[in-house]
Amino acid sequence: MLSAALKYLEEEHTCPHCNKELTLCHAPPVHVGDGLGWGSEFLFICLNNDCPLFVKGWKYIEDQYGHVGSYRHMEIPNSNETYNMMVAGNDAFTGSIVDVEAMKAKNERHLKEREAVAALDSCVEQGDLDSVLTLILDERAKLADRKRAVELLVPLNDLACVEPIRNMTFRDTSLEQLTNMALSTLLANNFVKECPFCTELIKSRATVCKHCQKDLEG
Ligand SMILES: [Zn+2]
Ligand SMILES: [Zn+2]
Repeated sequence: MLSAALKYLEEEHTCPHCNKELTLCHAPPVHVGDGLGWGSEFLFICLNNDCPLFVKGWKYIEDQYGHVGSYRHMEIPNSNETYNMMVAGNDAFTGSIVDVEAMKAKNERHLKEREAVAALDSCVEQGDLDSVLTLILDERAKLADRKRAVELLVPLNDLACVEPIRNMTFRDTSLEQLTNMALSTLLANNFVKECPFCTELIKSRATVCKHCQKDLEG
């Protein structure tokens, strides 16, 4: 979807009515029951409000159909099909303009999530904490994958996971509980605890924190 959008953005399409460049837009959703559809996720549309087709369209539609509307010139990518598409107002499609930066960001996050999920099977033997953390810290990753990642914290046995996880606010309370349990086990297995005053990791049997010097027995 992103690669298609990037390819289309390289293409230059001009409106035959006004000679202005067409804008790449997301195709509007259509009712499945209509059996209609543009056959493309994207459409090139002339959004020029001074385009003669659009300017004259208002009167034409008023005369022909007795309602408010006009036409925008539209082309379907990868085809020679062009249409005069009926629109209800100036703003139709201005909200559908393809935002490549937003699409890229979404795509990158999605790729990272997929790579991390694929890495889970071998992350313990690889000592790969990054993939596990990627999923645990990504609120938009699938909950089942994130829970699986949490279960790998103890076998991974890497205390570097403690700080990034403690800095995270979980939206899902069941995931938060699972994570807290895993961290407790991990700390106990390594004979360390978190200082209640400064949260630094210290020996389980320490009576004074070596970081903040607070007395832990008081
Ligand atoms: Zn035009
Ligand atoms: Zn401390």
